[in-house]
Amino acid sequence: MNRRKLIVANWKMYLSLHEASLLTNRLDKHVELHHDVEVVLSPNYLCLQPLSQEIDHRKFKLAAQDGYFVDEGAYTGAISFNQMRDLVSYAIIGHSERRRYFNDSLEVVRDKVAAAVRNRITPILCVGETKEERAQKETKQVLHDQIVTALSNLTSDDAENLVLGYEPVWAIGADEPAKPDQIESAISWIRYQVRELYGEKTESSMRLLYGGSDEPEFVKSIMSIDGVDGLLVGRASLNYERFKDIINNAHLVALEEDKGKEA
Ligand code: PEP
Repeated sequence: MNRRKLIVANWKMYLSLHEASLLTNRLDKHVELHHDVEVVLSPNYLCLQPLSQEIDHRKFKLAAQDGYFVDEGAYTGAISFNQMRDLVSYAIIGHSERRRYFNDSLEVVRDKVAAAVRNRITPILCVGETKEERAQKETKQVLHDQIVTALSNLTSDDAENLVLGYEPVWAIGADEPAKPDQIESAISWIRYQVRELYGEKTESSMRLLYGGSDEPEFVKSIMSIDGVDGLLVGRASLNYERFKDIINNAHLVALEEDKGKEA
């Protein structure tokens, strides 16, 4: 199965509109259009509308960093996927910072995933264990619970298009990414879970990303891991040179894979 590579920039609660616009401009100048790598930018809500008018849509897509699970109503302060449906192609859902600081429970994440799908926005569902859970050997159970709950309202067609991001919480904002063997075993467990739920066709269509302290020099080793289709990038995506290098390195991985298939 030939899955297109995907690189997602998560700008979190950084950058004013002016700064986000400047960064987008620089990326536009320096990043080449690669047909084998899709690039998604996820700024804060305030930037979505203006950036959607600024970006070259062949080069960049936009993602929301979250969204509320009800489409409209008396929910002061909330923004629904319904309100963002013409602005974004993707939405990051279940990021560990949402789970940790905003108490997004397994069920809330499930409802947000369903709301995004209902509004034709592709969820980028983040899952991952904490350091303590890993130490307690609970990684598989945690990933299982997060995946099974989050996907429980989706058909196999819905699930096929969803993007799943493995983000071990302990590797986010860390000195270095998780080790390739740690990523490989989590990714293969996640793919097994998806296969159990929906079968092989859905699993082999679904794109899986790794996120946690990605930098240009790690791209090749991480993206060469079986079953990894791309990266979720936090800090390094705030710097246009590092992010551009990440995109270019992802393109090199895609080229090498193609060569391997031809040989
Ligand atoms: C993230 O929070 O999704 C992330 C990957 O952050 P960082 O790259 O900064 O570790």
